[in-house]
Amino acid sequence: MQRDWQAEIDRWTERFGNEPRPPAAFARALREGWTPEARARLAAQAEAHRAEVDGLLGQLEEGGCEFVRLDLADDDCSVCEPFGGRAFALGEHPDVPTRPPMPFCPACRHRLNLLTPYFLSSLGLTMDDVTADTVLRDEQEPA
Ligand SMILES: [Zn+2]
Repeated sequence: MQRDWQAEIDRWTERFGNEPRPPAAFARALREGWTPEARARLAAQAEAHRAEVDGLLGQLEEGGCEFVRLDLADDDCSVCEPFGGRAFALGEHPDVPTRPPMPFCPACRHRLNLLTPYFLSSLGLTMDDVTADTVLRDEQEPA
């Protein structure tokens, strides 16, 4: 599934106009407009990140991993931030939402990492505490 980064950049530029904390590349574009170079750079970076995360997820899946956790980067935007620490299923699962395409927005560099029951219990959490149902539901509401 090839992603149309140019179309996504258009869509996200519009959306980030209403966000308190857009990513730096979008904040600049909202002030000054996009240059073709800036757009091309962001699209290339987003595609590189997608390939890297998908490669890792392929390895996890082959290893029999079922669940991943979304770890935020330091500067994730106000749209991506609510996904931080949330759990997703790599495949279909009755109780846990399937992972969204990564990166969620083109500019943020969050990652999906292996989520183990041991990790959860070390935090005193259960799967219910970290499933992303509510976040995804909010996300699908029309803005
Ligand atoms: Zn973001």
